[in-house]
Amino acid sequence: MSQSYDIIIVGAGIVGAACAAECARGGMKTLVLDRGPVGGGTTAAGMGHIVVMDDSEAQFALTAYSGALWRRLLPQLPPAVEYDNCGTLWLAADEQEMAEVRRKQSYYAARGVRVEVLDGAGVAKAEPNLRPGMAGGLLVPDDGVLYPPCAARFLLEQAKSHGAEVRVGAGVRALRPDGGVVLEDGSTIPAARTVNAAGPWSPDLSPGLPVRKRKGHLVITDRHPGFVHHQIVELGYLKNAHAVSKDSVAFNIQPRQTGQMLLGSSRQFDAEDSAIDYGILNRMLTRSLEYLPTLGELSSIRVWTGHRAATPDSLPLIGPSLQSDRIWLATGHEGLGITTSVGTGRLLADQLLERPCGIPPEPYAPSRFAGGAGGNHHA
Ligand SMILES: Cc1cc2nc3c(=O)[nH]c(=O)nc-3n(C[C@H](O)[C@H](O)[C@H](O)COP(=O)(O)OP(=O)(O)OC[C@H]3O[C@@H](n4cnc5c(N)ncnc54)[C@H](O)[C@@H]3O)c2cc1C
Repeated sequence: MSQSYDIIIVGAGIVGAACAAECARGGMKTLVLDRGPVGGGTTAAGMGHIVVMDDSEAQFALTAYSGALWRRLLPQLPPAVEYDNCGTLWLAADEQEMAEVRRKQSYYAARGVRVEVLDGAGVAKAEPNLRPGMAGGLLVPDDGVLYPPCAARFLLEQAKSHGAEVRVGAGVRALRPDGGVVLEDGSTIPAARTVNAAGPWSPDLSPGLPVRKRKGHLVITDRHPGFVHHQIVELGYLKNAHAVSKDSVAFNIQPRQTGQMLLGSSRQFDAEDSAIDYGILNRMLTRSLEYLPTLGELSSIRVWTGHRAATPDSLPLIGPSLQSDRIWLATGHEGLGITTSVGTGRLLADQLLERPCGIPPEPYAPSRFAGGAGGNHHA
């Protein structure tokens, strides 16, 4: 006889892991299922930038809340998580982008996020390998980076320390409206509720979910400690990342604790395969070389792709599904799921356990799409 659980979480990526940690800590009898290894999906493909973002108030609220939760976890994070408080340097190439620096500065400062505006000389001093002549930048010192698969493992260890069980190699065929799951081998496991945390594969288990795969490429180099010191993102990234209709690339580089440089990134819809697209890769590297002319002296040792789980309004789906109040969702985190995993886990558990939420949960409620998959588009 199968045991009955309070909650089964499908997906041992960083989002499922964070949900498991919070549910188990809240006293729920928790089971996590994944057909693959822990953190082997999009979580293994992500960049691990922990970043506060301001595309919308709701995005700001969840990223700022999550960033604070990550920083609270810092004393407990094992070295394998490689958390580095390197900060983000948003780079302005020209005066138009400098106007965006000033807008961002006043937005963040008004909401209590530490920021510092740098002029061209300040940027050159902070990052000597950048091409000369940058207009300036915005430093967000409390942002950081981490190694996502190990962070997922850490969160699952926390869940286990509160009694959760984790089964890998356990593919789920279907979510039952009564809360249980049907496994690939045809067996069922009963539960009061299930959480679909299957990332870009979540629509396979919840048909009709407004989640699309958005492909991304990353490149990692050999070891050059100190080549850059911050996660550097071009502000042109914002213009590009918002253009949901076309393929885009943007300069985005992350220093790893190993001394390696992790280079991003591209965004493509309607590219569901995992093959490397050399055209896009070439555009990505060309863009990076425009910003870091000596980057070509480093060797790239691996290139890979992953699929973000994108929603129409770029906000995740956290809460009961439209399908059944026994089936909950924690998916659709697009390019921010490493950052927002911990906030998602907390919001989900607070709602399940009917505790007050740390931030208003409504903007992430799946019910916002009740009128059809498209509703509520943001700019
Ligand atoms: C190129 C790239 C760069 C990124 N950079 C960043 C960044 O810098 N910062 C940031 O915050 N985010 C970033 N992201 C986004 C981030 O990686 C994702 O939002 C996050 O990993 C999503 O985690 P998840 O747990 O929802 O999904 P996943 O990690 O994909 O986990 C889903 C899990 O579900 C399992 N699963 C699926 N279907 C089934 C089934 N039927 N049965 C059993 N198990 C199943 C899968 O095996 C998988 O392990 C990036 C993403 C990409 C692609």
